[in-house]
Amino acid sequence: MRKRTFLKLTGAMGAQSMVSPLFGWGAKVPEKLKNWAGNIEYSTENLHAAKSLEEVKSYVAKTSKLKVLGTRHCFNTIADSKDAFLSLKPMAEVVALDAAAKTVTVEAGVTYGRLAPYLHEKGFALHNLASLPHISVAGACSTGTHGSGEKNGNLSTVASGLEIVTAGRDLVELSRKKDGETFRGVVVGLGALGAITKVTLDIQPTFMARQWVYESMPLEAVKAHFDEIEASGYSVSLFTDWRNKNVNEVWIKERVGGEKEFAAKPEFFGAKLAKKNLHPIAELGAENCTEQMGVPGPWYERLPHFKMGFTPSAGKELQSEFFVPREHAVEAILAVEKLHEKISPHLLITEIRAIAVDDLWMSPCYQQDSVAIHFTWQQDWPAVKAVLPEIENALAPFDVRPHWGKLFTIEPSVLRSRYKKLPEFVELAKKYDPAGKFRNEFLNRYIFASA
Ligand SMILES: Cc1cc2nc3c(=O)[nH]c(=O)nc-3n(C[C@H](O)[C@H](O)[C@H](O)COP(=O)(O)OP(=O)(O)OC[C@H]3O[C@@H](n4cnc5c(N)ncnc54)[C@H](O)[C@@H]3O)c2cc1C
Repeated sequence: MRKRTFLKLTGAMGAQSMVSPLFGWGAKVPEKLKNWAGNIEYSTENLHAAKSLEEVKSYVAKTSKLKVLGTRHCFNTIADSKDAFLSLKPMAEVVALDAAAKTVTVEAGVTYGRLAPYLHEKGFALHNLASLPHISVAGACSTGTHGSGEKNGNLSTVASGLEIVTAGRDLVELSRKKDGETFRGVVVGLGALGAITKVTLDIQPTFMARQWVYESMPLEAVKAHFDEIEASGYSVSLFTDWRNKNVNEVWIKERVGGEKEFAAKPEFFGAKLAKKNLHPIAELGAENCTEQMGVPGPWYERLPHFKMGFTPSAGKELQSEFFVPREHAVEAILAVEKLHEKISPHLLITEIRAIAVDDLWMSPCYQQDSVAIHFTWQQDWPAVKAVLPEIENALAPFDVRPHWGKLFTIEPSVLRSRYKKLPEFVELAKKYDPAGKFRNEFLNRYIFASA
């Protein structure tokens, strides 16, 4: 059984670092550079790591084509380059915490795993986190990375300031307050506008959170009560393998002392309250998962599904994710369910999450409350590539938008037609980067239509 293989791999990797020891940060590295999942071998090994703003400016000035690399967690070629990579990993300091303005400014190499405990210690929190904390703030904001919760916008919605080294070596400082619409265009920038060197994020007083997991909810209950289920917690995730018209697990996360406390009853729309901590894939041990069963803990130890200090998996997986307008959530889920015989044999798990509407031009949630249907696949690209078009076709009536950092096969022209602000984004990118220094094949194909 493939899930067992996954289990073995996960166990074998234990708490090892997710960053390959081979991934050096000098000018040259001994082995091919790959993304975290290992499914993408980057097209150059020419990697430069900058330690200061001056080094970023000087490298950008002397390099005709490059891509800035974050923590390499994207599953597609959005971060790839044939020419050169600039890593800001050594630039990973918290620059300023402004308690009065409730903002924190970080260098681009900072990960949520580093930032979150720092904020908590100082009495502050972020509004949300993704399923894992090991990703860079700059990389996450650049692709519209999100967590869960119908009232929570994606992680980039709390970005209120950016410092960017543009192709002309200029340092551009943009803020939500000062730059309005331009800022909304820049935040989910897909790496196309320049090298982000600093990000300012809105913060809030720290809070405690807790979570409960329910097992085995009939799909019929999701169909009949989707809105009530989604409204039941601060963050709600439905995990299913699409077998037996059943949602395997429902994860409900709540703020302690929040607007309304979740009353964890033994049964929730037909699902039973779990009696022990669970992994989203029930066969796997929960030791890497955040504490459940209603035990309170700091926000950053409950909002992600996986613990900060642990590796959520060995990287032996692929991911795809599709956003549909919230009002079509149930129809979309049922449309995917019809494909269960084709999906389940290649799937590790699906996660369904609601995300609040935003106004960021290239965000998949631009002007629409959304529901994201996510697929963690076995690492078998030929099989996944065969089933993706079927899922995309089933979701086409809902003008589905794929996650920018995950695998999809939607045609570029179709994708472009689903982003109303794309022409303005292209103009903005041309303003900051007229010669396309920061573009790669992915951006040329899906955004600039020139490849
Ligand atoms: C196990 C796992 C779980 C995940 N869970 C979630 C989840 O819960 N929710 C979700 O939405 N996504 C999730 N993702 C996807 C992932 O978090 C995002 O795609 C995110 O972009 C990764 O950030 P990164 O720093 O690794 O970016 P990279 O892959 O390194 O780069 C992504 C893009 O950002 C650009 N970029 C990065 N840094 C900079 C910079 N300083 N300046 C300019 N451009 C920059 C790159 O050029 C590239 O275009 C998950 C991925 C994995 C592997």
